[in-house]
Amino acid sequence: MDKKNKISCSCGSCELFLNDPLPKYSVMCACEDCRQALRWAEINGGKKPKDILYSVYFRSDIQSYNGIENMIATQLRGDASSTRIYCKKCFSCFAVDHVNYQNNVFMIQPDYCKQNFKVQIPPLAVLNLQDYPGEFAELDSDTIPVFHSRKYPQERKRFLSIDPLSEFLAPPKTPAEGTTIREIISKIGKIRVLDLVRGDNLEELRMNKLSIETFETLKKKYGGHSSWAVWADETSGKKSNMGDLRIFENEKILEVLNPEIILVALNFSVDIEMRPWENFHGKNGEVYKLRYALKNTPLWGAYMTDIIVGYVDPKADTTMEYLKNNPNIVLEND
Ligand SMILES: [Zn+2]
Ligand SMILES: [Zn+2]
Repeated sequence: MDKKNKISCSCGSCELFLNDPLPKYSVMCACEDCRQALRWAEINGGKKPKDILYSVYFRSDIQSYNGIENMIATQLRGDASSTRIYCKKCFSCFAVDHVNYQNNVFMIQPDYCKQNFKVQIPPLAVLNLQDYPGEFAELDSDTIPVFHSRKYPQERKRFLSIDPLSEFLAPPKTPAEGTTIREIISKIGKIRVLDLVRGDNLEELRMNKLSIETFETLKKKYGGHSSWAVWADETSGKKSNMGDLRIFENEKILEVLNPEIILVALNFSVDIEMRPWENFHGKNGEVYKLRYALKNTPLWGAYMTDIIVGYVDPKADTTMEYLKNNPNIVLEND
């Protein structure tokens, strides 16, 4: 039987088991940071963020946990107050710490992770409506306290006067029996600062931050037959440095790569075993013209792949003939 009081990511690689599964309080949050954090996760494979997020708080007291090697801890910016823990495989966010929680509680947004116990309790407040993207936020209750911001001391006082918030936004009276969320964050090791522009909803083409995890996954799965429209600079002649793959070894390349644009070629023109990202990167053939054509265009950095994998023919017309006679190949490559 499944162990009780579990919070996990959606693929099941990361699990937390709570000592105290009783929700301490919940709020609805409309802040842009929660949405941006989930939007970042969505780009990497997570779920699309809603405009208002049900957020529920538990004691920072974890009986046991699994999959710490699959966890990443992130902050949106260098000056962030929140640290979010995600699964690096499925990009569920399954725990959030904030300086104000004082390691007494931590937060989860149950729509973005999994739980095997009851986490729904009536929210006590609606927060940060100034960031709500629509004109009018429809709420389930017309008596629930709403907060446009908590910038002013009067607002903060009004917030903390809601029972039992002041009890849980203070250092814990009884120490945790198990591991705290901050101990887990320190076990994960380094915190990744995403350096996102405040309020940016990371629309298409602005997505210049491919994560190192996604990069490595793509490399392992598809690096043998795909690559990126990026080449080392030309130094001596128009074909020079075409085969230089060292550009993919420096993490700075992630700022250049753009998986939102995919360039598709037909198939391999030569039959050789490819090193990761080697396709379209060689001194032979005509590919050097691509470097010339794409340099300083929005297509620079695009993902490049062959539509048909495993059939070698440098001529497009005979390839089309082959595909016509073997339509199952097209289906296999779909
Ligand atoms: Zn996962
Ligand atoms: Zn929020």
